[in-house]
Amino acid sequence: MSVKPKIGIIACSGENEIGGTLSRAAARIVVEKLRPDNTVILCQPLFMAGGLERHGGQEERDFAKTHPTITIEGCQEECAKIAVSNYSGPPAATIHVQEIMEKYPELQPESKRELGVAGMKLAKKIAEKIAQKVDELYNI
Ligand code: SF4
Repeated sequence: MSVKPKIGIIACSGENEIGGTLSRAAARIVVEKLRPDNTVILCQPLFMAGGLERHGGQEERDFAKTHPTITIEGCQEECAKIAVSNYSGPPAATIHVQEIMEKYPELQPESKRELGVAGMKLAKKIAEKIAQKVDELYNI
């Protein structure tokens, strides 16, 4: 059985959109609970700061050049996808949080800072979608 490379998960860093909070919560669930052996989190702000020597972002960029990545976008601006594409190459897949939010209107997060019970359930739904994409990429 061949060993497959880990997949980098990059959530957008949005603080003003609920989608940003959800994208980061979902990324944590994937990497810590759903697919811990197959995924690692790459930090988007660090990724973008990679040109500065005192930051470690070059490692993130190099990882993304040699491993598949999945970006998670809190809104249509697709900041994570743009960052990865600019510095390392196109991501293998992109998950749009808002599309999943629209499928589960009954799961309303409490606020951007505190997702609450329903918001965490929604983050789990987003995480399951990401995990499904991880499995698809592993089976290519
Ligand atoms: S994708 Fe949207 S929510 Fe995420 S960092 Fe960009 S503007 Fe903010």
